[in-house]
Amino acid sequence: MLCDLAPQHVRAIAPYQPGKPISELAREMGLEESTIVKLASNENPLGTSPKAMAALRAGLADGARYPDGNGYVLKAAITRKFGVDPSQIVLGNGSNDVLELAARAFLAPGTQAVFSQHAFAVYPLVTQAVGATGITVPAVHYGHDLEAMRVAITPQTRMVFIANPNNPTGTLLGKVELRAFLRAIPTQVLVVLDEAYDEYLADEHKSEAIAWLAEFPNLIVTRTFSKAYGLAGLRVGYALAHPQVADVMNRVRQPFNVNSLALEAAAAALEDDGFVRRSRDLNEAGMAQMVAGFRRLNLSYIPSFGNFVSVRVGNAAAVYQGLLRQGVIVRPIASYGMPEYLRVSIGLETENTRFLEALKTVLAEETSISS
Ligand SMILES: *Cc1c(COP(=O)(O)O)cnc(C)c1O
Repeated sequence: MLCDLAPQHVRAIAPYQPGKPISELAREMGLEESTIVKLASNENPLGTSPKAMAALRAGLADGARYPDGNGYVLKAAITRKFGVDPSQIVLGNGSNDVLELAARAFLAPGTQAVFSQHAFAVYPLVTQAVGATGITVPAVHYGHDLEAMRVAITPQTRMVFIANPNNPTGTLLGKVELRAFLRAIPTQVLVVLDEAYDEYLADEHKSEAIAWLAEFPNLIVTRTFSKAYGLAGLRVGYALAHPQVADVMNRVRQPFNVNSLALEAAAAALEDDGFVRRSRDLNEAGMAQMVAGFRRLNLSYIPSFGNFVSVRVGNAAAVYQGLLRQGVIVRPIASYGMPEYLRVSIGLETENTRFLEALKTVLAEETSISS
């Protein structure tokens, strides 16, 4: 077997299951792409920031050149926005890339990384890919149990991954609790705080972790342009950390890991506060619409701080297939240990309505089959 040539820790990796692309469902079901609603990957239903679109058009002319491997323009924009030094920034081909850079820089066989049950799937993936051991800590009410995570740390632990808000559960840890955790753990354990959805939080919940970097040299904060900034297809994200931590991560980075269009678009998007505000407002209204729909259908859901919500539908695999037949793509999360739930991204009002109507139809079919 050729796969036996790969090390055991690589062979043991369970492949990441992405949301089904619209084009794939269109091919499989013979549907028009324009009739399909995709609420499966937490993408921004408003599309891309207009400022980023303008930067993309301008950037197309430079396609023959290599990108700036140091990402000067984007780092300058991040520096202006957050008051960090450029030496604290690691740019990535999506924040998935920076999560992997953190693992490759600091984990190795014989070391451990701690993460929560039901946390983002990429943490076990990158941990396993470098031959380190993942320690999964049971969740409480679908959220991180920080005290249990602290207790799970051993002398071999080099890294703790925390998603806040978490995907796919949407749970949020309080700032006081998080800071107490950072104070309580050994300083040689790096904490990767993944804030992919911070832009969607109400002002009182917004993270202050970037300000904590000065106090906690073992803290790595990651952010992405894939969600509220509407650049998921361009692949760009970043980590903010102590300069020495950022330096090591940058050493294992491919020199041109972020392409030139992504660099330009992200720098422009970062300054488009209006677009982010509209995205957040739309999400708030869409979330209210979605949970009101769940209540009408008598479905329980996990209250979410992200741009998605996980809803309990019973036989989620069957409901997922039923929704596909209606031209609606959502995300089954059995691989997250939640076989009765579907994760739904918040879309435009019309998309949410389409989804809720399709869900009602599919649940009625399910009931008539099982009774
Ligand atoms: C979507 C998401 C990301 C972002 O991934 P990108 O690689 O930046 O697209 C990171 N972390 C979590 C928890 C997410 O849900």
